[in-house]
Amino acid sequence: MPKAKSGKVELLNVIKQFDGIKAVDNLNLTIEDGSYCCLVGPSGCGKTTILRMIAGHEFPTTGRIMIGGEDVTGLAPVERGTAMMFQNYALFPHLKILDNVAFHLKMRGVAKAARQKRAGEMLERVQLGHLASRLPAELSGGQQQRVALARSLITNPRVLLLDEPLSALDEFLRLQMRGELKQLRKSLDITFVHVTHTQPEALALADRIVVMDHGLIEQVGRPEDIFNFPKSPYVAKFMGGQNVLYGSVDAVDPGDQNRITVVQESGNKLSAGVGENRFKRGDPIKLSVRRDKVHILTDGQAESAECGFTNQITGQVAGIEYQGSYVKITLDCNGKEQFVINAPDAVFFKRPVDLGDHVAAGWPPDETIVLHGDKDSSSADMAAG
Ligand code: ATP
Repeated sequence: MPKAKSGKVELLNVIKQFDGIKAVDNLNLTIEDGSYCCLVGPSGCGKTTILRMIAGHEFPTTGRIMIGGEDVTGLAPVERGTAMMFQNYALFPHLKILDNVAFHLKMRGVAKAARQKRAGEMLERVQLGHLASRLPAELSGGQQQRVALARSLITNPRVLLLDEPLSALDEFLRLQMRGELKQLRKSLDITFVHVTHTQPEALALADRIVVMDHGLIEQVGRPEDIFNFPKSPYVAKFMGGQNVLYGSVDAVDPGDQNRITVVQESGNKLSAGVGENRFKRGDPIKLSVRRDKVHILTDGQAESAECGFTNQITGQVAGIEYQGSYVKITLDCNGKEQFVINAPDAVFFKRPVDLGDHVAAGWPPDETIVLHGDKDSSSADMAAG
């Protein structure tokens, strides 16, 4: 199925205003041809509006949308070379699966034999050829989802737009469909733009993640960069897996300007590398450390620098959740901040802690990231796992 045109998507200074609400606020974004881009962010941040504007179901208040270098801002959906798959599948209940898949070709005047042949091929592609003559109600949710996918792809789009495509599926089917989307992307060589508020879905599928908040882009990058090097407390909290720590610069290492000591409100001191950035004593600062880089320390380890876990925090165990391959341990620090450690299960059960225990946790200073952005939204707090 050769792709006729480039699926590069560009949004240039796009604003979308609804009755006084700026759903999308002066957005500039380039999604490369053939890439898999996930738009993530809490509910209401403007993800679906962006997707609908790319599809042509909504028009920008100001700004331009380009696809494959062509200005498509005022074009109707069928003129754009895009296809959109909705969260609720939107299959026609009275039409057989084959006719559901062939529907867009019928609308375009393709002869019955030709459109049914093509629909049959698309159904084979999603492993549903044997169910072509059933009605949607006779299919499982996962099967209906794959029919919706086949129906979106039948017009040979250069850009496939997916709005929360997996959210109606149970965990098992979600993981299965995730794998199938990845396979499809590899075989089709078209651009995928996928809206989700599920962070692990974005990390698993995307080669580019766009983290949004209140109509604005907060960070764009590769999944591994977004996860390991979040720009702001907001991104660190929204993407999950990180602890955010607040403090001020206590000292800059006189022998190494790249290294600072940070003092937290509690008086606790932490060391961090700052790279090219320069700080001075008293500057407020936000740090993050991955939950899985932190260790619960024995008394000996807490007092010795030899183990390398010299950035430390103490707290009372407020939560223990077994997650299979790891155990999530939540510490209450000074009754204010919560700090989370994801300990490998074998490590935890070798030396378990109990609710109410007072423990010290530590990590190597080089695992400490300095956050540069200011955004620290409460909506992200709610969304973090
Ligand atoms: P969710 O994850 O809940 O689907 P979202 O990030 O996709 O949210 P949008 O659906 O793009 O968010 O909505 C962004 C903002 O624009 C919200 O405040 C929403 O209420 C508003 N909005 C969206 N569509 C319309 C509309 N047709 N009329 C008025 N306001 C709208």
